[in-house]
Parts: sequence; C-alpha cells; structure tokens
Amino acid sequence: MTSADVTIVGGGPAGSALAVALGRQGVRVELYEKAHHPRPKACGEGLLPHGVSALRDLVGLPDAPKVRGLRFRAGDASVDADFSTGHGLVVRRDRFDRWLFEHAASTPNVDARPGARYTGTRAPILVGADGRQSMFHRRLPATPAMPRRVGLSTHAIGVAGVTDRVEVFFHGDGELYLAPTGDGEVLLSALFDYRHFTPDGIRRLLASIPALRARTRRIEFTTPLLASAPLGSHVPRIVDEAERLLLVGDAAGSPDPIVGDGLALALASTRDAAEAIVSGNLRDYQRRRLARGARARRLGRLMLALSRTERRASWVLRHLSAAVPPLLDFAVGHESSHHARP
Ligand SMILES: Cc1cc2nc3c(=O)[nH]c(=O)nc-3n(C[C@H](O)[C@H](O)[C@H](O)COP(=O)(O)OP(=O)(O)OC[C@H]3O[C@@H](n4cnc5c(N)ncnc54)[C@H](O)[C@@H]3O)c2cc1C
Repeated sequence: MTSADVTIVGGGPAGSALAVALGRQGVRVELYEKAHHPRPKACGEGLLPHGVSALRDLVGLPDAPKVRGLRFRAGDASVDADFSTGHGLVVRRDRFDRWLFEHAASTPNVDARPGARYTGTRAPILVGADGRQSMFHRRLPATPAMPRRVGLSTHAIGVAGVTDRVEVFFHGDGELYLAPTGDGEVLLSALFDYRHFTPDGIRRLLASIPALRARTRRIEFTTPLLASAPLGSHVPRIVDEAERLLLVGDAAGSPDPIVGDGLALALASTRDAAEAIVSGNLRDYQRRRLARGARARRLGRLMLALSRTERRASWVLRHLSAAVPPLLDFAVGHESSHHARP
C-alpha cells in the first residue's frame, strides 16, 4: 500500500484527465506512465465537440486546429455534416497527450511518474487507464469488436485543398481520414478490414481514390507510419467493487474509430469517474460509462454496415444524405446542420 489515495495506471488522455480532476479535489494521486511523452500513438486525432467542451471545463483547450464538421465522400458523392453547436479539434496525439500529462504533473496532489511501468503496489483505489489492451482485462474481461479492423496513421505536408472539415473517404476496404493538424500539415489515417490490410495502405489509397490523387501529387510524409489492431472492444464490467478497481478510457471499452469518439468518451466520462471515486459509489460510474459506450458502439455498427463497400457508401450519401447529420448528432449528442452535394 502506498500513501496515495488513488493509483492510476496509464498517463494517456484518460489517466491524465482523471488525475487532474482528482488532484484538484484534494485526492492524492499517483499516476504511472510507462512511456515518456511524446510517445507514438496511432489515431485519427479528431476530438468531437462534447470532448472539446469536457476538456475546456477541465483544463482549457490546447493550441490545435478547429474543425466545424465532417465531409463524407464516396466515389463522386459528398455530404457535409457540420456540428450545430461548438466545434471539433484535431489534436496531434504526440503533442496533445504530452500537454495533458504535463497538466496532470503540475496539478497539486498528483505524483506523475513518467517512464514508470506499474508493478502492483497500489493505493486503496486502483484505476486502469492503460488503454485498449489493459492488463486489468484479466480480471474484467474484454471482447474485441467485430469486424476486426486495423488502423494506420501518419502526417504529411503538400496536400492541396485542405479545409476546416475532417474529410472521410469511404473506400472499398474501409475509410481514409484527412484532417488539418496546423502549419500546412495534415493527419492521414486509414482503417481497413483485417483481410484487406497491407502496410503500404495509405499510399495505395491516395493513389486509388480519384478525388485525392491530384491533391496529393506533392505529398511529403512528416512522421513515421503507425499501426494499431484490433480496433474497438467491449468490456461489460468496468468496476470491481471488492478490489476497489475501475477502468477508464479505452480500458473501459472503445467504439470502432469510425465513430471518432474514443477521446471524447474518455474526457466526457472523467467527471463521472472522479465523482464516483470521491463519493465511493463506483457502481454509478459503471452505469453511466457503459450507457455512453453502448451508444457509441451502436452508432459504430450502423456506420460500418452503411459503408461496407464504396458503392453502398456512395448510395447512402446520394440517397440518404438527410440521414447523415442526424447520425452525427447522435454521435456528438446534439443537433447539426448539413449541406449535400450530390
Ligand atoms: C487508428 C485509430 C484511429 C482513432 N481515431 C480516433 C479519433 O479520430 N478520435 C477519437 O476520439 N479517438 C480515436 N481513436 C481512439 C483513441 O485513440 C483512444 O480512444 C484514446 O487513445 C484512449 O485514450 P486512453 O488514455 O484510454 O488510452 P491510451 O491513449 O492508449 O493511453 C494509455 C496509456 O497507458 C500507458 N500504459 C499502458 N500500460 C501501462 C502500465 N502497465 N504502466 C504504466 N503505463 C501504462 C501507455 O503507455 C499509454 O500512454 C482512434 C484509435 C485508433 C487505433
């Protein structure tokens, strides 16, 4: 047993945000992070508006490009879906995760330990914030989402026509995301079905999507290509009351990244987790977090079904364009406006 009140394992966005929320309330926290920030992290780097507002309430916002919505594209079809309230952010994970971890480290009552892998000595309350492949899934098991998918991400300069919307290109085997990260740089992230994955996937897609070919003639990659698999998981129990253990962030289950909600889910649930720890009512946290996660999972399944092939995605964008913004509303929890361009 240590002298802290809470041990948090993992200094990614979920663990760092919770450390800030607890430390401010006088709870003594030890925050273990096995890596040193900035550490590599494959991600689509989009933070939805409800995540932005949770972050603003907690620590304020980082210096990162704002986005007003999404532009979905498949073949020649294109639909813009804008957030009706607030805006999204594109957060380069190396910078964002370091920024948030530094906030945690400078919060009173937080003992942040970069480069320290958790070894088992713990405070009375233990929090698993150690990501999708959490060590605590041995006790609170996870099931991987279906279909099994692989994600790639990198950054580049020299891409023409970048706007303040995240562009989502549905291709034959999944999606490609393009978003501004600032100073003329873009994030490129591609998600694939396991069976169609190849390590050169992003280059292959840039060459094979006609709407992108001309825009990427002068492309230069600025960061290494990162990969992650499998994407998405469900964790039916995220609290063990006897052990005084709870899971947060991806450790508590993550929707398929097609929803773009992993970070927002982690940040928007921070207050619930902090309240549960302070009040001792861990079960209440479990109920709220599972409800948020179930909503995102359902949306993910629907989006994957609607976009299974490029042809189907194109048909949906052409014929059901009015349904796209309500889907986005469902994801961000409020209304949005839209403009369809057939
Ligand atoms: C390809 C891809 C695209 C995505 N796109 C988006 C998107 O556009 N928008 C979005 O919101 N989400 C997206 N996500 C999901 C998002 O990346 C996650 O939801 C987010 O990283 C969860 O944060 P976390 O803090 O829970 O976990 P992580 O960010 O995984 O952090 C966990 C931390 O725990 C540390 N750790 C692990 N084990 C230990 C240990 N034993 N001791 C100490 N430290 C430990 C790790 O080093 C790590 O820093 C995407 C994910 C993928 C894979």
